[in-house]
Amino acid sequence: MKKPGIAVAVIAAVALAAFLIYDGFFNKTASLTFFAMDTVISGEIIGADSEKCADEIKSAIVRLDSDILSRHSDKSAVALLNKNRGGKVSPEFRNYLGILIDVSRKSGGKFDFTLGAVSDLWSFTSNPAVPEAEALADAVTSSGYEKISVSGDTVSFESENLIIDFGAAGKGIALDEIRTILDGKNVREATVSVGGSVLIYGGKEKAVGIRNPFSNAGDHIAKITVSDVCISTSGSYERRFEENGKEYHHILDPETGYPVENNLVSVTVVSESGALSDCLSTACFVLGVEDGMKLAKEYGCEAILVTSDKKIYATHGIFTSTEITDSGYTLIEYEN
Ligand code: ADP
Ligand code: MG
Repeated sequence: MKKPGIAVAVIAAVALAAFLIYDGFFNKTASLTFFAMDTVISGEIIGADSEKCADEIKSAIVRLDSDILSRHSDKSAVALLNKNRGGKVSPEFRNYLGILIDVSRKSGGKFDFTLGAVSDLWSFTSNPAVPEAEALADAVTSSGYEKISVSGDTVSFESENLIIDFGAAGKGIALDEIRTILDGKNVREATVSVGGSVLIYGGKEKAVGIRNPFSNAGDHIAKITVSDVCISTSGSYERRFEENGKEYHHILDPETGYPVENNLVSVTVVSESGALSDCLSTACFVLGVEDGMKLAKEYGCEAILVTSDKKIYATHGIFTSTEITDSGYTLIEYEN
């Protein structure tokens, strides 16, 4: 009688040990929190290679900022192009530039990655103030994506004072770089946020909150349940200031140089591509509900647009995955 009991106990102990080893290996979790690209990058990676990925992600994002995207690095591709008024670029840079040019074109110029001189006049990141009208009009005239030409690996500037700025796309580009790192590794699932743009990786559905655009408390008005996508939000609540009783925010109308004024307060775009989700959230914000939804459809992306009268418009493909968490809002399926 004793022997079978011992055998069962031994088998159970071996199974438990095997499970713990398996669990410790495949469910190895690494947390990520660091500051780069002027923002906080945070996340959780689960899988045997999680720690390795966390280290690689850190160095890749620091490199992406200092070697490619930063306007303020002395060696980044963007800074060198601005300084030298054009030049040769890497295939990696050419690829990202291609996406920005495409969104600029398809949005009819409402998205424009050449507004650096215009946004500098607003000083949103230091001491924001309404610029002088004449200086703003001059900067608007000098800007314009159609004044950039690309031939092979060479970029040329056809305007003296134009400054390119990847600010509306950088966080999404970072998500694409992060996904490439995770793809080649033993990773079961991951969630990584780059300043609010989020990558959900690994097939498992996760809920992501849509921030309350009227509160600084970080509370949510709705949640979407998604897997294997990038999610970016552009909101008029970010980087804003008040002058003489009027509010100004950082998403600019390329035609006037002033902050966009329409009935939108936030736009969230869901796409497999991080760069696209980030560009399109800004582009759709500037375009407004009707044209913004058209652009999202053209790219085959899902979008959630929140208006100042607390309506949440969701495209067909994301509508059933969206749930209101604040009863003051109304969810409407947008027929596109
Ligand atoms: P955030 O940087 O807060 O995530 P966005 O992705 O919407 O927000 O990008 C806003 C940034 O994009 C601005 O700070 C500015 O640098 C730049 N920008 C502002 N207006 C436009 C525009 N119409 N087209 C392209 N870029 C813009
Ligand atoms: Mg953006």
